[in-house]
Amino acid sequence: AGGAHVPVLVIGTGYGGSVAALRLAEAGVDVHMVEMGMAWDTPGSDGKIFCNTLQPDRRSYWLRTRTKAPLNYFLGFPIDRDIPRYTGVLDAEEFAGITVYQGRGVGGGSLVNGGMAVTPKRENFGGILPSVDANEMYDVYYPRANAGLGAGLVDPAWFDSTACYQYGRVGRKQAQRSGFPFVFVPDVYDWDYMKQEASGTVPKSALAGEILYGNNYGKKSLQKTYLARAAATGRVTVSALHKVTSVAPAPGGGYTVVIDQIDTGGSVTATKTVTADRVFFAAGSVGTSKLLVRLKATGALPALNDEVGKGWGDNGNVMCGRANHLWDPTGSLQSSIPCCGIDNWAAGGAFAEVAPLPTGIETFASFYLSITKNPNRAAFSWDAATGTVVLNWQTAWKQPSIAMAKTIFDRINATEGTIYRTDLFGVYKIWGDHLTYHPLGGAVLNKATDNYGRLTAYPGLYVIDASLIPGNTTVNPFVTITALAERNIEKIIATDL
Ligand code: FAD
Repeated sequence: AGGAHVPVLVIGTGYGGSVAALRLAEAGVDVHMVEMGMAWDTPGSDGKIFCNTLQPDRRSYWLRTRTKAPLNYFLGFPIDRDIPRYTGVLDAEEFAGITVYQGRGVGGGSLVNGGMAVTPKRENFGGILPSVDANEMYDVYYPRANAGLGAGLVDPAWFDSTACYQYGRVGRKQAQRSGFPFVFVPDVYDWDYMKQEASGTVPKSALAGEILYGNNYGKKSLQKTYLARAAATGRVTVSALHKVTSVAPAPGGGYTVVIDQIDTGGSVTATKTVTADRVFFAAGSVGTSKLLVRLKATGALPALNDEVGKGWGDNGNVMCGRANHLWDPTGSLQSSIPCCGIDNWAAGGAFAEVAPLPTGIETFASFYLSITKNPNRAAFSWDAATGTVVLNWQTAWKQPSIAMAKTIFDRINATEGTIYRTDLFGVYKIWGDHLTYHPLGGAVLNKATDNYGRLTAYPGLYVIDASLIPGNTTVNPFVTITALAERNIEKIIATDL
């Protein structure tokens, strides 16, 4: 195929891509979105679109023959299992020193994530995006993003009484007994729906342990928010199971975009060429960085600057569990949607989400995903020998994160007279330091791009996703990704179109 022409092509359908598509369409521009993952709009033989965390099937992982669960041991036993190779929803992408988890499908990370919609504290913003006007962000773009995403807080009275947040209440009690600020954090989950799940009147998702491999009912993923609104304009089309492999200047102006169509086994079934006046890179931190680094190195976009690929961080992610006393059970029914955290950012460089461990049985464990102020930054580069883009992150670079997380949990353990769990990440291994859920950077704002995401060497090429953010957001990142995209697309529509 070939010859097709579109005004705007968006690579990827996560937060950045969805904001760009909606706002451009509202401005009267036709947009074509290209997404390598599936559409996730059709139920399987069990009547569900997504599979359950406790029973992963082929829908769980992106082109793997064995699951790679983030929490891969339980009571010291490995829990991963064989699955058929399929274009499943969660990609556990392995680099030398880190496994980077990402969503695959129409909606990107919103399909697999916990929905925690956290706005950074304002005093921390200057350290997150130093070239961006904080007043504008907090007056206009964060509120716009939170409204567009449908973020809301758990009803505190319900939190205090429902069985499914006993683990949250234990987290609160222990945080407060050690003198740490405990905070509720917003989520895009439909809280009224969760209450109905608890009362047994609707099909369950949060209370059925659905997390990581998609959520069948209550979570307001992008499919239900930005992408639904974009579709309603009539100006946005989406091609699922299509992967962009090249973008290069077209002879007659604009850009030639090469796209592989793939089947659910990952095999290429067709290669298509489209000409686009403008291209938005919204393939996520890893996806956009890999594309730009390769296209620069292999001569398709040689004038991209030397900042491309740099400034990558893991948002300081590190996981751990604590063993509670028998009189502090965390509950056999746990909502898979986290709603609270422990804030020790200012004093210890750590913000810990009180995370669920929705196994269906009492574990007497408290589980946490900490976001820490890890200063280490990695870079993507082109490895000509293997023809791949590599990332130079090292596992040892997580040590600052562990030290920061310990500022919270060592103290809680001392207060409570408890110990760390050693059976969740291996045999006698306390820290989940091999992974991130929050890849950020690789095409940093005001470095690889101008201050609005333009790749200035190539008019009409833009970056509009997590790769703009240099490695850390102090909290969970997608509200900041969305708000920054809202800011940038408003400027681009006003000045470039
Ligand atoms: P993405 O959402 O990653 O979207 C990029 C899209 O581009 C993907 O759909 C991908 O398949 C597609 N793509 C990539 N390459 C190509 C290509 N070459 N051609 C076509 N398509 C391509 N954040 C929070 O704020 N709160 C949370 O509670 C939270 N929990 C998380 C839990 C998990 C398990 C994970 C994995 C992430 C979580 N995150 C959370 C992180 C959040 O989901 C990401 O930061 C966010 O999705 C990144 O947005 P993005 O727009 O940059 O890219």
